[in-house]
Amino acid sequence: MWIYHGKNVFGGIAIGRISVYKKMENRAKREQAQNPEAEVLRYRDATQAALEQLEGLYEKALQEVGEANAAIFEIHRMMLEDGDFQEAVENIIHTLSVNAEYAVARTADNFVRMFQAMEDEYMRDRAADIKDISERLLAILQGREEERPQRKEPVILLADDLAPSETIQLDTNQIRALVTVRGSLNSHTAILARTMGIPALVGTDIPLDGAMDGKTGIVDSAEGVIYIDPDQETCARFQKALEEMEEGHSMELLQTLKGKENITLDGQSIQLHANIGNLKDLNMVLQGDAGGIGLFRSEFIYLERDSFPTEEEQFQIYRAVAQTMGRKRSVIRTMDIGADKQCGYFGMEKEENPALGCRAIRICLTRPEIFKTQLRALFRASAYGNLAILYPMITSVKEVRRIREIVEEVKAQLTDQGLPYGNPEQGIMIETPAAAVISDLLAREADFFSIGTNDLTQYMLALDRQNPGLDEFCDIHHPAVLRMIELVVRNAHRAGIWVGICGELGADPELTREFLAMGVDELSVPPGRILPLRKAIRETDVSEYKRTREKSW
Ligand code: PEP
Ligand code: MG
Repeated sequence: MWIYHGKNVFGGIAIGRISVYKKMENRAKREQAQNPEAEVLRYRDATQAALEQLEGLYEKALQEVGEANAAIFEIHRMMLEDGDFQEAVENIIHTLSVNAEYAVARTADNFVRMFQAMEDEYMRDRAADIKDISERLLAILQGREEERPQRKEPVILLADDLAPSETIQLDTNQIRALVTVRGSLNSHTAILARTMGIPALVGTDIPLDGAMDGKTGIVDSAEGVIYIDPDQETCARFQKALEEMEEGHSMELLQTLKGKENITLDGQSIQLHANIGNLKDLNMVLQGDAGGIGLFRSEFIYLERDSFPTEEEQFQIYRAVAQTMGRKRSVIRTMDIGADKQCGYFGMEKEENPALGCRAIRICLTRPEIFKTQLRALFRASAYGNLAILYPMITSVKEVRRIREIVEEVKAQLTDQGLPYGNPEQGIMIETPAAAVISDLLAREADFFSIGTNDLTQYMLALDRQNPGLDEFCDIHHPAVLRMIELVVRNAHRAGIWVGICGELGADPELTREFLAMGVDELSVPPGRILPLRKAIRETDVSEYKRTREKSW
């Protein structure tokens, strides 16, 4: 048995086989094709080879697991032979003059999104099959067909590091835990793991080699430990703990707290909303009994693609959120590309200091055509439910006024075109010290504030949130940050607007009483944190706490 240590991102226990993650970007690089016709032939040959593989798998499965279970390979065969899929791949090869690998990957992405957006659950599940057949095709095209083991059960995914765009594309049903060698606690990858509710460790001292593949692992993320090839006693201990955890804690919380109010013993209420990055997360929002969505990080729509999402694609996604959530408010943040969330096709200049560079609203204001497309989609979707729009990385009143002007142009255009749109609330993120300090002035320009404590902490403490080596200097309860939050809440309320916290600090149970005492109106947290926070809120007496607390900040 080997024991390695990492930093706990999201507590929990997971037992399963290790699967070493291979970077997607090696799989489908875009290359210019000198002879597109030859690429089409390569694609057709690969399809033929894939069909033969599937036939073999079907026969084997038929013998080993019976007809019903073997049927999946029949479905894959039908998908491979589907005329629309084939036409789409060949079209991309011809129109873009690209290699077959790229065309397959891009077609698969489009089909996956299409299936995922479908209402019928069975059809939605087919997205995983599309991924499967495209992986098979890619493996054949790249001559690595033996590499693809069929996963019989979810795994513990071991990776050097994962970009946010890679994390968001993981199939959570196939993953018991995430373990990375690099990565920091406040990185977007860590945030996503929390949103997905997957036990995760980052900065782990585990060797990343192929020999780990297939070994048994136990992740005890609360303790920051991963055991490889655990002995019998360790296995039995964690198996028991896992069973107790599954039966006890979460089930009990779910049963007793769903549908209840987030109200303290002395009658103060607060909204508990969810942070999401993808339509897939909506399920967890509903399961977690969130009062709404406090932060939809829309940049992930951009990160998942290799070209700009169209207005129509975005509209479909935002409308799906609005319709699923009904009267419950969903705050969609305009894209926060930049810093660690880089998107190649934006063609941004390389920056010395991307966290202090052209990020988020700065891109939107300097490239209004990108911004307007997103605003059009958001305003149109707001006609279908209770959407609100949130603008990130604000530092000045001037920026907010410029946004308002662009919004007016967009609305006028929609009116001219006879396209319906709603009247969403428009708020700003308070995540720079500048915004916090002038929050009295900004409050007159916005319908609400959402405090982004991740960036606020990074910029207040001059401490790169991506740098794991700085964790020891990062006091997440730093008095400067807490004072700023209190100031922002006061200024928001003086101006008569509501204020929420959507950064990771909002989910920190050590601060729940403090935030209640400050009068924060909404905490937006990973979906899995809502019920535990509801429990804590319902057990708190805020007036009593205010009377007795000794402020250390
Ligand atoms: C934040 O900065 O706290 C925030 C919520 O935004 P992000 O983590 O996406 O930068
Ligand atoms: Mg931020």
